[in-house]
Amino acid sequence: MTLKVGVIGTGMIGQDHIRRLTKVLSGVDVVAVNDIDVKRAASVAPGGAVVFETAGDLIRSETVEAVVICSWGPAHEAQLLDCIAAGKPVFCEKPLVTTAAAARRVIEAEVAFGRRLIQVGFMRRFDGDYRRLKAVIDSGSLGTPLTYRSVHRNASVPAGLYTSDMPLNDTLVHDADISRWLLSDEVKGVEVRLPRRSSRGGDLRDPTLVLLHLASGALVDVEISVNIAYGYDIRGEVSCENGVASLPERPSAVIRDQHGVRQRVPEDWRERFIDAYDQEFREWIAAAGQGTTTGPSTWDGYAATLVADAALRAAETGAFQPITMVAKPGLYDTAIAQAAE
Ligand code: NAP
Repeated sequence: MTLKVGVIGTGMIGQDHIRRLTKVLSGVDVVAVNDIDVKRAASVAPGGAVVFETAGDLIRSETVEAVVICSWGPAHEAQLLDCIAAGKPVFCEKPLVTTAAAARRVIEAEVAFGRRLIQVGFMRRFDGDYRRLKAVIDSGSLGTPLTYRSVHRNASVPAGLYTSDMPLNDTLVHDADISRWLLSDEVKGVEVRLPRRSSRGGDLRDPTLVLLHLASGALVDVEISVNIAYGYDIRGEVSCENGVASLPERPSAVIRDQHGVRQRVPEDWRERFIDAYDQEFREWIAAAGQGTTTGPSTWDGYAATLVADAALRAAETGAFQPITMVAKPGLYDTAIAQAAE
C-alpha cells in the first residue's frame, strides 16, 4: 500500500524531505504540497502533486492520507489542530510549537481525539549512534547515569534568519529531547550561562552553556555553538557510576598530508543525520499507514518547549528556572520509554 502524503512548507528541510519521500523511501507518494509562497511550492512539487493555496485545504483534501509539516514553528499549532480535526497522522518538524500554552492546546486536542496522530521531528532518536548509546545505558551495565554532556555545534547559521534567542528557542530543543530520551528522565529546571560572544555570530547569543537539572538528580551540560566555522559537530557522553559511554567519531577516511592527520567533519545537519531522517520517516510511514504514529510525541514536543521557555527566562535573569509540567495524559505513557532498536 502506498501512503499518500501532503507536505506543508517547502523551504530548506521541506525540500530535503520531499527528496527522501520521492527518491529514497518506498511505500509513500507526495501527492500534495503547500507553502505560504505558492510559487516556491509549485517550483519543487514532484510530478503529479497538487499545489494547494492554503495548508488547511491540503490537510482536508480527500487525496491526502497523512501530512508532513515543515513550515516555520509559529505556524505549526494551527496546522496540527487541523490535522487532528481531520483525523490524519502527521509528522511535524521540530519545534512542535513555540509556546507552552500552544503545546497544551495540541495535547488537549489529541487526547480528545483519543489516539496519537503526531510524531515530532526529533531525528536524533532514530540515529544509529544514539540508539547504541541508549542501549548501553538501558542495559544498566555501567550503573546509574549521573551526568550527560551534549555538544551541539553548527558551522554557521544563515545571516538574518534568526533572532538572538535562536540557540535557546530553536537549537536547544534537540539537546533537551535527546537528554530526556537517553536518560529516561524529565527536565525539572534550567540554568544558562552566557560566555563572551563569538564575533562571528552578530546579535546571536553564541556560544551558550545550559545546565539541565533532571528529576533523578542527574545533570546535563549543553554547549551550543552555532557559528563555529569548522563544521557540524554533535557530541554526547554519558557518565555513569561504573563507566562512561559516548557517541563515536563519525566514520570518515583518515587523511595524512602536509597539513597533518585529519578526518572530514559533516557540513550540516542534512549530512550528519541523513540516515536518521530516512529512518524516522520509514517508521512514520509504517505507522501512518495504520492510521497512527510512533516515536517522539506531542508530550515530548511539549517538554522540549518548556525547556526552551525556561532557558530563555534563565538567560534573562541569570537564575535557575524551575519547570512544572501538567499531569501526563495516559495517551503518552509509553512515549519516553520508546525502545532503542
Ligand atoms: P525555511 O527554509 O524557512 O522553510 C520554511 C518554509 O515554510 C518557507 O518556505 C516558509 O515560507 C514556509 N512557511 C512559513 N509559514 C508557513 C505557513 N503558515 N504555511 C505554509 N508554509 C509556510 O525553514 P527550514 O529550515 O526548512 O525549517 C522549517 C522547520 O523545520 C522549522 O520548524 C525548523 O525548526 C525545522 N528544522 C528541523 C531540522 C531538524 O534537524 N529536525 C533542521 C532544520 C529545520 P517563507 O519563507 O515565505 O516564510
